[in-house]
Amino acid sequence: MLDGQTCMVTGSSRGIGRGIALELAENGADVVVNYRSSEGPAHEVVDEIEDMGQTAIAVQADVADQDSVQAMANEVHDELGEVDVLVNNAGITIDKVFDNMTHDDWQRVMEVNLGGVFNCTKAFWPDLKAANHGRLINISSVVGQQGNYGQANYATTKSGLFGFTRTVALELASEGSTANCVAPGFVETDMLADVPDRVRDKILQRIPLDRFAEVDDISGIVRFVASPESSYMTGQVLAVNGGMEW
Ligand code: NAP
Repeated sequence: MLDGQTCMVTGSSRGIGRGIALELAENGADVVVNYRSSEGPAHEVVDEIEDMGQTAIAVQADVADQDSVQAMANEVHDELGEVDVLVNNAGITIDKVFDNMTHDDWQRVMEVNLGGVFNCTKAFWPDLKAANHGRLINISSVVGQQGNYGQANYATTKSGLFGFTRTVALELASEGSTANCVAPGFVETDMLADVPDRVRDKILQRIPLDRFAEVDDISGIVRFVASPESSYMTGQVLAVNGGMEW
């Protein structure tokens, strides 16, 4: 389904990004695995993809750092050429009730979760336009739709992606390329492992399907959005959250 496509997945050394990278490769794509500090795990993802017979490279870059993102883009272009699909997945949380949230807590989450999306989209924008079937996929969150106690910074970034995605979708449309958001609910990754048990129990009570998502629940949807089957869908938010209200 993705034969001949090159896909760039930010933050794909672990968690949801790792699952997306493997899923896209299983469906025929060559993949760029980006990481910030998990060099070993990123190379393990590359090895798994190469075992499938696809090409993959691991590239270190902090998405919040414009210069390092541009250096990453240069390396990707030198080694694999233009990308067809950019998945802006890298994201962090620094959770505190607003009373205790500092300017630095606010700023760092903005720089990674929104600044990183700007930097990566900017660096690969010419590729997405030139591809004519380019796919920009931004990983948001149910928290951007509903808000969440102790996550004013994170929720703001994930809501911000809705406005960004709808706008760039309009600007890509004349090229035949699309931009969409996937908004997962709560997914079993290191990010959720940081949440205390009593809070996890409360969250679970709000999920009609009565379980947290597995990474595969999200990566299959991203594969669909990356594929030619989604070519008439743009500017949308796909909520993949076990039926949580929105
Ligand atoms: P995770 O397990 O904490 O993994 C985060 C990934 O992002 C890692 O590969 C990490 O790389 C990378 N990363 C973090 N900061 C980075 C930076 N500045 N530059 C480059 N890479 C960076 O997180 P996850 O749960 O998979 O979440 C992935 C995305 O899904 C995030 O955008 C998150 O907001 C969103 N999401 C998650 C959930 C959930 O419940 N887990 C729900 C909804 C949405 P290193 O390993 O090198 O640090």
